[in-house]
Amino acid sequence: MRSSNSNTVRRLAERSDDSIGSQGNKLLSRLMANDPAGCTLFWDDEDAYLTWVHANQDGYVVNCDKACVMSMYPMIHRAIHKSMWTPKRKNYTTGDYFKVCSRSASDLGVWAANRKMTMTRCLVGKCR
Ligand SMILES: [Zn+2]
Repeated sequence: MRSSNSNTVRRLAERSDDSIGSQGNKLLSRLMANDPAGCTLFWDDEDAYLTWVHANQDGYVVNCDKACVMSMYPMIHRAIHKSMWTPKRKNYTTGDYFKVCSRSASDLGVWAANRKMTMTRCLVGKCR
């Protein structure tokens, strides 16, 4: 797809089936040349994601739905937020969601802006 407009992504996602929502989103499933070098994308890679988040507890995690249809996403969390890494949950980067991580919140703001996406903030506990 040529456009980086999030409305285009949303329209495409709404008329696609689940398999396209989870795998076919080229705009989200890889980093772009103008994304900050500090951003790391985790897509269908649980081990690498959990390794990063445990090693960078002073960093930030953006959670996003792969289909790009949920208005509360992308949402930025502090890596210390337990729901970003508790073993009680699974499918952090598989299934319907993926993560973009950085030690810099502003890097993640650029990642979202590069896709014309509006990031929301987690308001739970230590994330505030
Ligand atoms: Zn949070």
